[in-house]
Amino acid sequence: MLPQDLHIHSTWSNGDASVVSEQTIGFIAEVPYARIIGISDHLELVGEDLFEEYAGEVRAAGLKVGMEIDGCPWLSAAQSVAADYRIFHCYDRDADYKALDRLLAMGQPVIVAHPNALDTNLDRVPPECLVEINNRYIWRCDWRSFYGPFVDRFQFVIGSDAHQPNWLNQTVARHVATELGLREKLVFRR
Ligand SMILES: [Zn+2]
Ligand SMILES: [Zn+2]
Repeated sequence: MLPQDLHIHSTWSNGDASVVSEQTIGFIAEVPYARIIGISDHLELVGEDLFEEYAGEVRAAGLKVGMEIDGCPWLSAAQSVAADYRIFHCYDRDADYKALDRLLAMGQPVIVAHPNALDTNLDRVPPECLVEINNRYIWRCDWRSFYGPFVDRFQFVIGSDAHQPNWLNQTVARHVATELGLREKLVFRR
């Protein structure tokens, strides 16, 4: 059993072509693969208006309520809805690094999503942010040189970024974390 998986998409990310119709909240909740499971659907696809309904369904299934935010244009939307944690696409632009400060000020965990896939400059990321080792993207870079210099600067979380039932695992990301000598930060306690 994995300790946690906080980066999972469900059918609420309707419009993301990688999500399949079987990837419902109910299905995810029934697969006993991680002790703490959080759903992080794309905020722009859930929509501010339906976010409360989404959060209610996630909570009713016993899961943590998250979201994935596509950079600074969605900052105010992210600030207007309640969740347990937030995952942020930090593109390499001033406003995105500033948005991380604003999200941290909300007092809940902020996870920087797959920085290697977005050219995020980790030197500019506040050290209070958690940095993700993402099973979908980690193998698409020279992860030793990208993450290696930062292993002492940040705390890290491992995420599946599952869009489909058979993506509900963290096999490659965990291998990388072990190779880098990272100890995963457990964000929530039961
Ligand atoms: Zn993403
Ligand atoms: Zn994602």
